[in-house]
Amino acid sequence: MSWRDVMCGEPRPESVGQTLKLAGWAARRRDHGGLVFVDLRDHTGVTQLVVNPERSPAAAELAKEIRNEFVLRARGEVIARSPETVNATMPTGAVEVQVDELEIVSRSTPLPFQLDEEGVDETLRLRYRWLDLRRDRMQRSLRLSHTVISSIRQTMDRLGFIDVWTPSMTRGTPEGARDFVVPMRLQPGRFFALAQSPQIFKQLCMIGGLDRYYQIATCWRDEDLRADRQFEFRQLDLEMAFVEREEVLDVLEQVVVDAFAAVGREPPARPFPRLTYADALAKYGTDKPDLRFGLEIQDATELTRGSEFGVFAGAETVRFLVAPRAFSRTELQRLEEVAKEWGAKGLAYLVYDDDEVRSPIAKFLSERELDAFRSEPGSTVLFAADDEATVSRVLGGLRIHLGRELELASDEDLFHWVVDFPLFQRDEDTGNWTFLHHPFTAPIDGHEERVAGDPGNALSKHYDLIWNGWELGSGSIRIHRPEIQADVFRTMGMSDEEAAGKFAFLLEALAMGAPPHGGFAMGIERFVALMAGEPNIRQVIAFPKVSSGSDPLTGAPAPMPDDQLRELGIRLVEEPS
Ligand code: ASP
Repeated sequence: MSWRDVMCGEPRPESVGQTLKLAGWAARRRDHGGLVFVDLRDHTGVTQLVVNPERSPAAAELAKEIRNEFVLRARGEVIARSPETVNATMPTGAVEVQVDELEIVSRSTPLPFQLDEEGVDETLRLRYRWLDLRRDRMQRSLRLSHTVISSIRQTMDRLGFIDVWTPSMTRGTPEGARDFVVPMRLQPGRFFALAQSPQIFKQLCMIGGLDRYYQIATCWRDEDLRADRQFEFRQLDLEMAFVEREEVLDVLEQVVVDAFAAVGREPPARPFPRLTYADALAKYGTDKPDLRFGLEIQDATELTRGSEFGVFAGAETVRFLVAPRAFSRTELQRLEEVAKEWGAKGLAYLVYDDDEVRSPIAKFLSERELDAFRSEPGSTVLFAADDEATVSRVLGGLRIHLGRELELASDEDLFHWVVDFPLFQRDEDTGNWTFLHHPFTAPIDGHEERVAGDPGNALSKHYDLIWNGWELGSGSIRIHRPEIQADVFRTMGMSDEEAAGKFAFLLEALAMGAPPHGGFAMGIERFVALMAGEPNIRQVIAFPKVSSGSDPLTGAPAPMPDDQLRELGIRLVEEPS
C-alpha cells in the first residue's frame, strides 16, 4: 500500500479523469449543506477535495468530523472545476478531487493558534514549533537553507575541499565569547568546553597535510542573544594550506555566487570590492559598512583647529556627514537622541534651507569653516567631535539610522571585503592587549616585529565579508611560525607557562613542519536569513531559542536532579529559580 500517488500541490488539468490517492493535512473545511469541501495541504501546496454524500455516503459521514490539521487520506477522481469556481491564484485551482474513499489518519486537539493567523506571539509559535513549521514561511526558509547548504557543499567539493569532522567537546577555543562547559562524570571537577569554532583543529588539519578542509560546523558561544545571534549556530568553516589571502577570498566569492545561482537569484558581481579597515572606519564609522548608500563621513579635524567653537577646537577628532534633507527642529532632536545612544554628548548641526543656514553654532564658525561646510539647499551637516573612536561610533550609527529613515539604500546586493584589520586592540576592562579576530591571525608581512615591539600599530591578515552591512563571516591567514605565535601570546599578557598550558599542542604542531595556511568561517544562518529576506535568524532555524536563552518547546534549560549533579561532582551555590 502506498499512502499517496501525488503530492497535494500536483494535480493539474492533465490529470482530469484519473483516480488518485492523496494524503496531507486538512487546512480548511467548508460545509455547504451536503457538499463538504476540504483543502488538503502538504508542503507542495493544496488540493481541494469535494465530498459528495451522493457519491460516497461513508466519506460524507466521516467528513463531518474533520477539523483543521487532521491528517487525511483520500482517494478520488480528479475533475475539472466549472469555470466560475476556478481559483487562478492556486496552481491546482483548475481542478478538484471528487472523493470516493476518505480516511482520518490522525486527529488534532484544538489548535493553540491557526496556521494562517497573523501576529501570533513568537514564544507561542516556538512552543508549538511543529505547527509553525507547517506554515509556508517556515517551509520556505528551511528549504532555502537546504538549497544553500547543498550548493555550498557542491562548490567545496568542486574546489577540492574535504569534509573533516572535528570535536565539539574540547578545550576552550578563543573566539572572544564565553564557553559553554560540559561537566565530566568520569572525571568529576573537570570540564570540556563546547567548541566556539573548530579553529585550532582546522589548523592542525593543515599541519596534518589535508590541504583543503571544510565543514558545516556547529559552534557554541555563550553570548547574549540578538536578531543575528543564537548560542549555537553553523558556519561554513574552511581552511587551506599554501595560500595567500586573495585565494581564500576567491573561494568565498565562488561560494556566494554559486549559492545565489542555486536559489535563482542574480549573483553579485565579482570580484567583491576590498576596503581597508582604516578606510571603513573613517568613511563609514564601522568595520561593517552598508555600501548601498553613500553618506560618507568627512574629516574636519584640521579645519577646526583653533575654531571659535570650543567643542570643535578642544576635540581630538571632528568629523561630519551631510544628510540630503533640511531637518526640522523636532527631527534634529530625535537625531540628537540617536547620537546620544551611540555615545555623543550632543549633536551640532548646520541646516541648509533654501538660502539660509539654520544653526545655533553658525555664529561661532569662521568664514573659512562655513565655506568648507556649505552644502546644497535641502541638506543638513551633522557633526561629531570627541575622541576618534566615539566620533566613528556616533557618525557610523547616525549614518545607518539616516540610511534607513531616508531610505537611501539601493536595492542591489552589495558584498565587499574589509581587510587590513589591526592585530590587537585594548581590552576595555583590563587595558591589556587582546586580539581583534583570534590569537592565531598572522601580522601582515613586515609587521612581525611589531607583535612584540609595537602591538598597537601591527596590522593583521584578517578579513571580513560584509553583505549589505551585515558581517557574514571572518577569516585570516594564520601564524605558521611558533616564535611569532609565542610573541602574540606574550603580547596578550600570557606567560610562557600559561601559553604552554593552554596551547602546548598548537605550539608543538607549529614547530613540526607547519605549512602557511589560512581560512574563513561564514555564518550559515545569517547568510540564509539575508537570502530569505528574514530580519531574524530564528526564522531560518527549525528549533531556535528565544532571547532569554530558553527553548519554549522543550523547556530547556532545566534544573538537574541532585543525584545527577553529585555524580558530576557539582554542588549548587544557589537553588535554581
Ligand atoms: N574561527 C573563526 C571564526 O569562527 C574563523 C576563521 O578565522 O576561520 O570566526
